[in-house]
Amino acid sequence: MLSFEPVIGLEIHAQLLTATKIFCGCSTRFGAEPNTALCPVCAGLPGALPVLNGRAVELATRAALALGCRVHTESIFARKNYFYPDLPKGYQISQYDRPLATDGEISFSADGRAVRVGITRIHLEEDAGKSLHDVQADASRWTHLDFNRSGVPLIEIVTEPDLRSAADAAQAFSRVREVLVALGVNDGNMEEGSLRCDANVSVRPAGELAFGVKTELKNLNSFRHVQRAIEFEIDRHVKARQDGTRIVQETRLYDPASGRTTVMRTKEEADDYRYFPEPDLPPLVLDVAWVEQIRRTLPELPGARRTRFVAEYKLPEYDAGVLTQSMALADYFERVAAASGNPKAASNWVMGELTRKLNETRDPIERVPLEADALGELIALVDKGTITGPIAKDVFEKMYGSGRRAADIVSAEGLAKIDDQDAIDKIVVDVLEGHAATVAEYRAGKIKTFGFLVGQVMKATAGKADPARVNESVRRVLGMPAVKP
Ligand SMILES: [Zn+2]
Repeated sequence: MLSFEPVIGLEIHAQLLTATKIFCGCSTRFGAEPNTALCPVCAGLPGALPVLNGRAVELATRAALALGCRVHTESIFARKNYFYPDLPKGYQISQYDRPLATDGEISFSADGRAVRVGITRIHLEEDAGKSLHDVQADASRWTHLDFNRSGVPLIEIVTEPDLRSAADAAQAFSRVREVLVALGVNDGNMEEGSLRCDANVSVRPAGELAFGVKTELKNLNSFRHVQRAIEFEIDRHVKARQDGTRIVQETRLYDPASGRTTVMRTKEEADDYRYFPEPDLPPLVLDVAWVEQIRRTLPELPGARRTRFVAEYKLPEYDAGVLTQSMALADYFERVAAASGNPKAASNWVMGELTRKLNETRDPIERVPLEADALGELIALVDKGTITGPIAKDVFEKMYGSGRRAADIVSAEGLAKIDDQDAIDKIVVDVLEGHAATVAEYRAGKIKTFGFLVGQVMKATAGKADPARVNESVRRVLGMPAVKP
């Protein structure tokens, strides 16, 4: 049977983290009472004039540089004309043929493959308002409009149709999110709509160069929705090809409950926005030195940091991936690694006990009540042989949120490791005498009872004995040959 190749491109809308809107001084705060952050400019009243927010330009430029784009020293705002109830002016101020930035890329590895997705363009634009269809009991008769979002600054990131699977598309979206969040350009909050993804999907017979008819999936607001919606859509296109049904160019919405996409509007003739240059705004002219200044202040981005963690700390790729999921987590790890002198142990603690504790307490990593160097000291105590692994977990629990240091807890509570071989042997003999029946079973050939006996000895020492020494002592007392641990 003919095999088909999916072709996918993304359009990502990201709200810039400014305090005020893109062309007026109204607040961008999420969750305000409807229609309280509004002025003549963002309400689209006749005669009101837009004034560009410099901070929005700066954040957009940061994003463009970090995504490898060429930032143009001159770009033009344009009116995108369409009628929609939540668009008060009847047009959206966007950028069209002269966008802020072009020619960037997103690259990552997926299952060992290097994936590279070109970025066609990044442009600045304003958001529209919001139609609310379910505000009151009379929802069937009325749609309410909230214009607080109207004029909120966005960048739109448009990729080339370089993606070939739903999983890669979800991954690309996730990489963009991680970069924008690391830059402080966007809060990454998909539930509140400050980051949204549209996907253009088509299929073509494998080996063919011409693109098939594409459909656009709108407002996908989670990585999982991106993946599932595209998977569904690819499947639908392939089936249509096989059945000889026509795929219509249209905009579709994904319904997470059913896992299906449905038609929102057909696009074939609707797509004429009659763009023209915005007469109320001059061309946006950037100083080259200013752009270079921004380039110099870019932080180390998650992808680069992952590579460095592998090279510098000799961490597995997996660890590097987990630790760089947020800047704060990666920063914390680096401080623990420095204080402990043992990066792999630091990684294990941060990904294991610390993450478990953060999930349990719901403390954000930005405000974890445990100093990174205090955790580093705890790890160093294990490495020096002062305490055992099980005791270290116990000490960790006592340190977390208390401000106490590991060494103090260990000395105050007598938790130091029992290192004295004679003392361990004595406990082993006691425990084995107390489990005579199990010892007899062991001697009769039921060798898996060995682990149970070691466990009983560890319990008798409250976890303070060195497990390797206990192991060896139990063997010796039982008369087994010694083995290397
Ligand atoms: Zn306003």
